[in-house]
Amino acid sequence: MSVRLHLRRIRVVAVLVDLVERLVVEVVDVRRVVRCPHCGFKTTRIHDTRRLRVRDLPTRGRPTELMWARRRFVCGECSERHWEDHPEILVGRRTHVTRRLARQLVRDVNAMSIREVARRHDLPWHYIMGLTVSWSDRVAQDRRRRRCRVLLVDETSLRRGHRYVTVVINGDTGETLGIVAHRNTAALSGFLLAQGHRWLRGVRVVVSHGSGSYRASIRQHLGHATHVLDRFHVARWFAAGMIEVRHRIQRIGPHGSRPAFEPDVFRSRYLQLTRLDHLQAHRIEALGRVLAGRPELEAAWRMLQHLYGIHLAADTDDANQALGAFIDTYQHHPLAEFEKLTETLLEWGDEIFAFHDTDRASNGRIEGTNNKLGVLKRVAYGFVNVTNFAARALLLTPGMATSP
Ligand SMILES: [Zn+2]
Repeated sequence: MSVRLHLRRIRVVAVLVDLVERLVVEVVDVRRVVRCPHCGFKTTRIHDTRRLRVRDLPTRGRPTELMWARRRFVCGECSERHWEDHPEILVGRRTHVTRRLARQLVRDVNAMSIREVARRHDLPWHYIMGLTVSWSDRVAQDRRRRRCRVLLVDETSLRRGHRYVTVVINGDTGETLGIVAHRNTAALSGFLLAQGHRWLRGVRVVVSHGSGSYRASIRQHLGHATHVLDRFHVARWFAAGMIEVRHRIQRIGPHGSRPAFEPDVFRSRYLQLTRLDHLQAHRIEALGRVLAGRPELEAAWRMLQHLYGIHLAADTDDANQALGAFIDTYQHHPLAEFEKLTETLLEWGDEIFAFHDTDRASNGRIEGTNNKLGVLKRVAYGFVNVTNFAARALLLTPGMATSP
């Protein structure tokens, strides 16, 4: 029978095993002349030949192996010997696969755990993992060669609340550039330094959440860029003051009594945090009934809405007005719960207001990436190894143009 593999520069010279459950064919490279890698001269002299077992994609559902008669050439010019390479074959230390099988393996890695991929293709776990790491390294290198104008920095954990990693994303393309262990100054600095001076100079805007560690690193290595606090993270800070006020005033009896909380105040807790411009008329009325007769809760709500106004503002002047309105309300109702928040505002004011100087930059894109990372963590049953996680996460985001 004749077997067509559709691999360029490969010729089938014999069918060794032809069973329903397995196909093994002997193949050779069609080239007769090769170039010596040591001196560049052409040679045709074969020193010896060794058979290499190469795994390929299944042929019509049948597991397929190529026995590649790999030749060792001797150079007539410099008499050095060398083993030939083939563009369709990835030669490993023990396991060898065709390039198209490698591509399929990496595609599968994005959809299932390494163990499942290994079982499905009957290949060692370590081989699949190694392939994933080396491919993602190449993808990362490729991405870092391109200029990154907006850099997004965030953190995530491998398991809920454990083993934090820093995620760095190109804000223009949404591509993950790197994932490094820990969420401290050294983690981010290590990543930034590895990018090189030229790449760093190309960054104009950095978006991060309010972490002093990240800020220290950004100031040191990206001092020329504008640092913006992610608005969604800031909104959570703002809401925290309101939530604390509610916690204090909603309790109506001592611990253990029922109901412990004022039902109206407790039930409307999400309503209290919603931006006014997102509320329909009937919900505003409902909220008005809760706030009426509760001056502290009402003051807290006004302050929160003024703070939201900082990001809703059209420009820096409007944002300053919103901040001014917040300060006025705070001076009339100096609620203790907002004291820490005003300190934070002072400490991070530049980074919060920079939002208006940077075309309203935010980490919105990173949130989408974080969702994908969440799916990956479930697929892989939680990660314990940062390298494995980083390798797989890098392949998840767009721009998988490079292939093994
Ligand atoms: Zn030579």
